[in-house]
Amino acid sequence: MAKIEHLKAEAREAAKLRGHRLGRFKESVVTPESGKGGERPAWVAVCDICAALVVVDPAPAPGEPEILGEGVNRDCRAIDQEWHETA
Ligand SMILES: [Zn+2]
Repeated sequence: MAKIEHLKAEAREAAKLRGHRLGRFKESVVTPESGKGGERPAWVAVCDICAALVVVDPAPAPGEPEILGEGVNRDCRAIDQEWHETA
């Protein structure tokens, strides 16, 4: 499997564990937060439920993650509600 396909599968799995339902990955670009360097190609998918983004950056700066975005950093809205109900 190509590295990018592997990363997309990994990102999809990570988002799924947080309750998201990602749509298809689309080719996009990311701008480094440091502001150094220009835009570079990346893949972005959006959760059908809460619109959280998951970004796969195939060539991140040193120390930066290849998979990032709300979709892997926070739980989906649906799961959130379930937790509050059972808490
Ligand atoms: Zn979601």
